[in-house]
Amino acid sequence: MLKFTIMEQFSGKTVFSGIAFGKATLFIKEELAMDKSHCTDPDAELAAFNNAIKVADDQLAILFEKTREEVGEEEAMIVDVQRMMLEDEDFLDAVKNLIQNESSRAAYAVDRVGKQFYNQFAALDDPYMQARAPDITDVSRRLGSIITGINTAFVLTEPSVVIAEDLTPSDTLSLDKKLIRAFVTLKGSTNSHTAILARILKIPSIVQADIPLNKEFDGKNAAVDGHTGIVYIEPDEVINKKLKQQEESDKAKEKSLEALRGLPTITKSGKTIEIAANIGSVEDLQAVIDNDAEGIGLFRSEFLYMSRNDYPGEEEQFSAYKAAAEALKGKRVIIRTLDIGADKQAAYFGLPGEENPALGYRAVRICLDRTDMFKTQLRALYRAAAFGKMAVMFPMITSVWELKRCKELAAEARAEVKKSGKSTGDIELGIMIETPAAALCADDLAKEAAFFSVGTNDLTQYTLAIDRQNADLEKYLDTHHPALIKLLEMIVESAHKAGIWAGICGELASDPEMTAAFVKMGYDELSVSPTFILSLRKRIREME
Ligand code: PEP
Ligand code: MG
Repeated sequence: MLKFTIMEQFSGKTVFSGIAFGKATLFIKEELAMDKSHCTDPDAELAAFNNAIKVADDQLAILFEKTREEVGEEEAMIVDVQRMMLEDEDFLDAVKNLIQNESSRAAYAVDRVGKQFYNQFAALDDPYMQARAPDITDVSRRLGSIITGINTAFVLTEPSVVIAEDLTPSDTLSLDKKLIRAFVTLKGSTNSHTAILARILKIPSIVQADIPLNKEFDGKNAAVDGHTGIVYIEPDEVINKKLKQQEESDKAKEKSLEALRGLPTITKSGKTIEIAANIGSVEDLQAVIDNDAEGIGLFRSEFLYMSRNDYPGEEEQFSAYKAAAEALKGKRVIIRTLDIGADKQAAYFGLPGEENPALGYRAVRICLDRTDMFKTQLRALYRAAAFGKMAVMFPMITSVWELKRCKELAAEARAEVKKSGKSTGDIELGIMIETPAAALCADDLAKEAAFFSVGTNDLTQYTLAIDRQNADLEKYLDTHHPALIKLLEMIVESAHKAGIWAGICGELASDPEMTAAFVKMGYDELSVSPTFILSLRKRIREME
């Protein structure tokens, strides 16, 4: 009998565009069957729990290495956070307490405590802590599956369009990257781990899709159009043809970008713009080279400080900054000094809880108090400066005195390095302009700074009074708001009046709708995620 298949289509939000074809592979998590009856041998349950902790740690250690190799250091840190949870005394005590005092079976105790901790974290105001809630579910599920012997691992066997309600970090990281053609999730945000991973690996992905988790879809042909955010189940001939054509044109576009390697970024009328890369760790250096960046415009150094238990020392920082300086072979590397606080937290800093963390204790405000810590970073930077062209910028500056104090501490750090007999190099000391105060006082700041780099992510948040972490406010987050445009014009004007250069390193730098405006305003540099470099160069070279 002839079997007719009917095409169905669903839509969502694109987090990485592109075309993908594969088998629809539904990722549906089975509930772990928990034995809720009382146990008769708590010692045996305790032993099972302790063993599960060890096995989970071994599994995560392997996943950490796999992620580091296949994806990068920053994503691997997600796995490390989960390993730290396995050592969390509160978590361990709560589980043991249920086993010993309530005769709970180990798997059930883990599940109960996991859910309690999930709820506690999900209810916290701090977005960083909130974002740890899925990690807790991830870890307790892993423990439950080890204790019960129920294997919940999800394995891909053919090129797949993975469809899931949501994906936890370890779900995504454990999948065979060679077989993932696309991700489609019902939940998830543009900043979720899956979205970040999709962008790094260049996998077409859609979040918040309106597709039901219908088991009948499993194994059917699927196609994803990451340009429009549509996923097709059993795409018909017309759609297949259209998507294949789009795929060809995407490839041709990519190839034409290849031809731009090594060419200068210059408009037809001869204005040169420097296109630099934004990175978060030394693991990203290869992408900087591969995409032919003209420098590093923002190295977010706080990632050296996060997902660990103690401050990174001078040697460790020195080797990271030196790696960047050497890899760029004389092109400028701008390292941003520590910008911790607000959405970026590290428990060992012992920062106080705050009502309004974005308006609170963060970035230079912490560095100017904890000067020993700050000078450790500055010494590492001055030592790395001996190996390349180094620049440093200070985040969250609002007043001239803060910049002057940062410069004093930098001079002291350099003197300390010299005194120790180690070599140093010159460093251009600039600032990020990411507060309206800095933008409005740009004239005065320009007299003290070697350059300006505009952090539009924060500048937008502070100018429009919109929390950048709050997805519900997205419709108010107008990144082209006239207030922001006026500030951007003022900043570059003040810089040039004082004879210094100005760049943009926030996300807006890669917005194609803004490129012409930035060139017209006179910006000297745009720093963007490595994957956007060649297309931005193309756009500028086509400009009058
Ligand atoms: C910015 O605020 O635009 C910026 C580049 O810094 P971050 O996104 O790290 O706060
Ligand atoms: Mg910022």
